[in-house]
Parts: sequence; structure tokens; C-alpha cells
Amino acid sequence: MKFQGSNVLITGASKGIGAQIAKTLAGYGLKVWINYRSKPEIADALQKEIESNGGKAAVIKFDASVEEEFVSAIKVIVESDGTLNYLVNNAGITNDKLALRMSVGDFESVIDANLKSCFIGCREALKIMSKQRFGSVVNIASIIGERGNMGQSNYAASKGGMIAMSKSFAYEGAPRNVRFNCITPGFIKSDMTDELKPEVAESYMKNIPLTRFGEASDVAEAVAFLLSEHSNYITGEVLKVNGGLYM
Ligand code: NAP
Repeated sequence: MKFQGSNVLITGASKGIGAQIAKTLAGYGLKVWINYRSKPEIADALQKEIESNGGKAAVIKFDASVEEEFVSAIKVIVESDGTLNYLVNNAGITNDKLALRMSVGDFESVIDANLKSCFIGCREALKIMSKQRFGSVVNIASIIGERGNMGQSNYAASKGGMIAMSKSFAYEGAPRNVRFNCITPGFIKSDMTDELKPEVAESYMKNIPLTRFGEASDVAEAVAFLLSEHSNYITGEVLKVNGGLYM
């Protein structure tokens, strides 16, 4: 895959989908900045794994929902590399409860971690990328942001907000050749899906036309495409990676 730029920041990248995005993009030759918030040992191990496979990686600690921390982290990256070419807003949490039992605090915690962090990242990226007249941002939203879900009104609002917000950023970035796109994963194999009983997992899979849970690599390859030169004429798009679960 061809990339015009050379470096990328991935938020929440020490584990899960973010870690796979880091490995995949490093495999395509980008220097990856692995953001972590807790557990430096996992982030360090990922950095070593990427480097031992011949890739370039660095770790950077910050809480993506805290403006000062995110802004100064991006400053550190630009001071180190002279640029930031790509950003993947991947950090995210859930805090599921039926709406009738959900406090405003439960609602806000998810909006802050998922939507506010994404806003800060998109805004800071746009500042830098506008000046260099080039850049691409991918925001990891969710199928839940497209169709809603029981017990996830906070998560659905945050992910639906990411989708609408990305389109607004796409308008603002387009005149300066800065692209913003979203990916909406469906069921992706994770610690959570691994713990499902086989019969429960099978009942979920029955509703997925491609009859399997997605792999983190399915998401990571879609991210690579949306950052790469192969998607130069795509902005404001929402790419579903859900096995056909929601079309
Ligand atoms: P995960 O394994 O729980 O990883 C999420 C990562 O985000 C963790 O490393 C976490 O760090 C980090 N994070 C959370 N809040 C943060 C913050 N404020 N600042 C910095 N890092 C933060 O989740 P995942 O399954 O890989 O999901 C990754 C993304 O894909 C999320 O946005 C999720 O909503 C989305 N997604 C996942 C699925 C799925 O099936 N797995 C489906 C649709 C969408 P800590 O460990 O330090 O908290």
C-alpha cells in the first residue's frame, strides 16, 4: 500500500484493535506512535515487537479526553518528527446501562472518552495538516453509532456523534487536502467475544451474513486503506467493517 506521509498517531493503541492497527501500519512502513493511558508495560512490549519486525515505533502516554495532555503529546510528536501526517482516533470505552438507570455521569464519561477525545484529536490534526496541505484522519466509530443498541444510549450517542463530526471536519479539511473518514466496526474478536460461550457466540453469528466475528486485522487493513494514497478521493465517508450485519 502506498503512503505519501511517514508517521501516524494511534490513540488507545496498547491493546485490542488499536494494537493491531499499529502493527499493520508499521508493517506498511509508517512510524507509529502508540498512545497508552495505563499499563506502560503492554505499550513497551508492542513497541519492541514492532521494532523486532523491522518497524519504527514510539510510545506516548496521555489521556485522550484531557485537552492539555492530548495537545502537548501532539506537540512532542511534531517536535520529534517535524510533522504529523496521519491520526487514528481509536481510544474508546463503554459503560452500558439501560437508559432509565443511566446517570448523567455515566453518559458524560463515555461522551468524554469517545467523542470529546476525537474532537480534540481532529482539531489538532487539522491545524498541523492544514499547514502542510496534506493529511488523513480515521475515526473508529461503531455499528452502534449507526443503529443504536439497548443499554448503550451513551455509547451510541458518542459514536453517532463521531460520524456526524467527522463529516463536518471533512468539509473544513477538504480545501487543504486533509481528509477525515470513519470506520464502523461490527462484532470484532476481542477479550469480550473470546469469553462468550460457544452457543452464545453461534447465536450472534447467525445474524452476521459473513457468519463470523471480524478480526482486528479486518479493521486495521481498512484503516490503512483510508490513510493511504489509494483513498485520495474519499473524505467524509463511513466504511462499515461488520460482515454485513448492518448494510
Ligand atoms: P479495548 O481493547 O478496550 O481497547 C481500548 C483502548 O482505548 C485501551 O487501550 C484503552 O486504554 C484506551 N482508552 C480508553 N480511553 C482512553 C483515553 N481517554 N485515553 C487514552 N486511551 C484510552 O477496545 P477495542 O475493542 O480494541 O476497541 C477499540 C475501538 O474500537 C474503540 O473505540 C471501540 O469503541 C471500537 N469498536 C470496537 C468494537 C469491538 O467489537 N471490539 C466494535 C465497534 C467499535 P486503557 O486500557 O488504559 O483504558
